Amino acid sequence: MEIEQSYDLRLNKYGERIETVGGVSLNLEYWDCDCEENYIHSSKIPYCKICNTYEDDSPNSRMDEVEWHIRENGDEYDRFAETEFVKECFERIMKNDSD
Ligand SMILES: [Zn+2]
Repeated sequence: MEIEQSYDLRLNKYGERIETVGGVSLNLEYWDCDCEENYIHSSKIPYCKICNTYEDDSPNSRMDEVEWHIRENGDEYDRFAETEFVKECFERIMKNDSD
């Protein structure tokens, strides 16, 4: 039987959804792939071609890690958001879905 945990959903100052469950805050706009480093991805990019991981199969990123990796160390993934990289990811997902 599952124990009911405290649950909180709010927006941070960037308008991103922050979900807190059992004392752990997750940023629902980001997810972690399986890479050893640079593993935080914006949900705008739902696929990591380096480790072949999809957002749907991955956990959301911890809020504090997003703050550290994305905000303080320079928006690594958002820079890709409007590039060919995103297009390639989506094409791959579409292809994957139709198989
Ligand atoms: Zn990866």
